[in-house]
Amino acid sequence: MNTIKTKAITITDSYVKRAQDNLVQYLLSMKSEKFLFEVFKVAKLKPLTKEGYQGWERSNQINFRGHFFGHYMSALALAYHAEKDHYLKKQLLEQMRVAVAGFAQAQENYALHYPESAGYISAFRESALDEVEGKEISAKDKENVLVPWYNLHKILAGLLDIHESLKAIEIKTSQEALKVASQFGDYIYNRMMKLADKNKMLQIEYGGMNDALYHLFALTKKKEHLIAATYFDEDELFKQLAKHENILPGKHANTQIPKLIGALKRYQVFQDDEFRSFLSDKEKEKLTVYFAAAKNFWDIVVQNHTYCTGGNSQSEHFHEPNSLYYDAEIRNGDCTCETCNTHNMLKLTRNLYLLTKDARYLDYYERTYINAILASQNPLDGMMMYFQPMGAGYNKVYNRPYDEFWCCTGTGVESFAKLADTYYFQENEHILVNLYFSNEVRIANKNIQLVQNSDRKNNIATFTISSISGDEVKPIYLALRNPTWTATFEVFRNEVKADYELKNGFIYLKQPVGENETILIKFTPYLKMVSTKDNPNFIAFEYGPYVLAGGLGTKNISADNPNGIMVRVGTKERLLPDTLTMTTADWRENFTKYMRPIEREDKLIAFQADHIDEQIIFTPYYEMHGERYGIYFKLVNADSETAQEAIKKKKEWVREQELILAELHNFDENNSEYAKNLAYNLSEVGAFWGKRYRKAFENGWFSYEFSVHSKANVYLQLDFHREDAGKRLDLILNEQETQTIIVSDSGEGEFISQQHLVNKALLNEGTIKLTFKASERETPRVFGITFLKSLSFENEIKLKQIEVTSGHITHTDFSTNEYEITLLQNGGVIFHLENESSLVYVDNILIDETKPRPLADGSHPVTIYAPDHRTKQEYLLKVENK
Ligand SMILES: [Zn+2]
Repeated sequence: MNTIKTKAITITDSYVKRAQDNLVQYLLSMKSEKFLFEVFKVAKLKPLTKEGYQGWERSNQINFRGHFFGHYMSALALAYHAEKDHYLKKQLLEQMRVAVAGFAQAQENYALHYPESAGYISAFRESALDEVEGKEISAKDKENVLVPWYNLHKILAGLLDIHESLKAIEIKTSQEALKVASQFGDYIYNRMMKLADKNKMLQIEYGGMNDALYHLFALTKKKEHLIAATYFDEDELFKQLAKHENILPGKHANTQIPKLIGALKRYQVFQDDEFRSFLSDKEKEKLTVYFAAAKNFWDIVVQNHTYCTGGNSQSEHFHEPNSLYYDAEIRNGDCTCETCNTHNMLKLTRNLYLLTKDARYLDYYERTYINAILASQNPLDGMMMYFQPMGAGYNKVYNRPYDEFWCCTGTGVESFAKLADTYYFQENEHILVNLYFSNEVRIANKNIQLVQNSDRKNNIATFTISSISGDEVKPIYLALRNPTWTATFEVFRNEVKADYELKNGFIYLKQPVGENETILIKFTPYLKMVSTKDNPNFIAFEYGPYVLAGGLGTKNISADNPNGIMVRVGTKERLLPDTLTMTTADWRENFTKYMRPIEREDKLIAFQADHIDEQIIFTPYYEMHGERYGIYFKLVNADSETAQEAIKKKKEWVREQELILAELHNFDENNSEYAKNLAYNLSEVGAFWGKRYRKAFENGWFSYEFSVHSKANVYLQLDFHREDAGKRLDLILNEQETQTIIVSDSGEGEFISQQHLVNKALLNEGTIKLTFKASERETPRVFGITFLKSLSFENEIKLKQIEVTSGHITHTDFSTNEYEITLLQNGGVIFHLENESSLVYVDNILIDETKPRPLADGSHPVTIYAPDHRTKQEYLLKVENK
């Protein structure tokens, strides 16, 4: 089986083409010179720019520097072939030249200064590597690099990708890239020879060092590079996986996936007889262990740890098998499905397919390509996601272009630089069509231009053939993938039903296709409901290869939460629906009847969910942008215990909100803080435990202005972290009154909330200025500022009106709270309450009182609870339907 390279393929699908164009524009808006900044510093060369890039590429604080530069080189190398515009190609090439020349120069200069470390190239000093080996590092040698080998893997892979990319394009740069990589491989070998304990080093994430070094060895055939590669093989882990042991729970997900890409690479490289001679007989025998480990790993991940989008992990980790509902809903749904993981799973998947021809790998590939990769890019500007929340109520959050550079931005630029690399494979006389996206592919040895026109809306793909040179073409045989998402298919050759044979998930056409002939295939995709294994009612929909997402509007669409090092993630809007409440008993078994296809001009497909309380339209997740969404919803029966629980949970959240007069929790040095008139001196923001904070240093301060309107008492609540217990600050209210605040160590949990009654005389026409001043070396970190109406929930029931939709109230007895009601057809009762957090029970069922509730003939007891959810009042509705 051979691959067909992207240089032969021109993408014409408008969505995918735009995604690729976005990527190329993004790459060309950056400069290799600037990425070389830190590399030159390390090599004692004068940097080419005044400063380097920031975000994860920074050097002054915790960083991953060099990682993005490596991805950038790989993306340039890939995009060069994907891009067809001559002018843009030239610019991509130029960035590769600069990068490679820069590394060559840095490598040479470093060797002059440190001959014993010849070959080393990096954006950080070697002390970072000493540190992961467990050596003592002096303060001045600290580099604050979290995962140095991970970053170096990206650099090595980037150089090798440029070498491969430019082999037939620009030999000089190609060879230079290989030379630098090879000398770097020598350095790694020398370092490994001195390594006392490789396991210590392997405990820190090291990306795909084994993969890149096996690749290097296959190019250089140097025994040293092979030895270096084996240092990064975790044979113990591979053995366990080869025995199909699921040792993944608790492990950092994206640390594991590249290890298996590397294991498979070892297996692949040594399929070649030329390389086998490097191995002992015992090593040859053991090769199958690497293959089995990669296959089993894939099975374990895909079967037990993967959502319908193809994504895996929560908070970057694998948890217990089949705990996907728990992970997305209970643990913390902000950070499911790191996008890096899907990028790497697709690498592994593609290689497994090439070795096994097992069709399920391509099914996974297609599903993940669409619903995790294409879905991760903002079509407007090409920026990319880190985590992809799977639950309901979330927004998509994308990286900023130049001051974040997350891992997922790195794998992201690679993903979008090779969008067509798995569209076709070639097997003997057959061209295998793997994916159905419009494109044109040149098959030079057959003198053929094959045009695939894929009408994804109508599920029809046509293939036509023309001659590249104008001369006669050599006919080809097509094999079209028969995806699992279609119920049936019909295939025609020149409008006549074609003869075919089904094999390995493909439709092998028996007759060749020649010039001006057309093949047409029509699919009949179906709608599918899927759920997680730990909760059959946590469900999502798929139509054909598309995972559907429910559109939930644009409330707070640009909000984000901090997570990890400088990472931002989507937020869940708690008031938006995360349940689908079925109002008919047969909904589940007949969901295909109730999911009604509708036409939405801007969407590929759309379904309206009928007989569901929440009015939701489902469209493909991948094209959902600028809108809050839900992928998995909790499917509940109307009035069931789970439906009532969901209502209760929302009401509890609402009543917290009802107490709030003004608040600030998002210390972002941006819109949120400036909206409160932020001013400061010697102060900074940061994030800790998933929350943002602000603090001031000695002699420093920060201040905000809040508008607070209340006739009654006003309380100020400040949130701190327990670690800061004992720290103090001076709080100045309206520049008049100073209070000393000391963080107490009371209560439970990570965060501590302290409340203070505000002197009403200080409320100046409804605004109040708070100044937080350091009275010691630094203030405690302030994680939240909230003005509250009260410290307890209201105990008054404020029923404004009972409304009857279609019908009327015929009699009311206010002394007994009895209402006589006549309902006409489709009529119902709505309860209007001043406090939305009040609970309304009808016939002992907690209901959503804002929706018309039909009632049968007879008496219906109603109980309404005040926001304290304790004080109650009984009512009686006597209903007659007419
Ligand atoms: Zn990532």
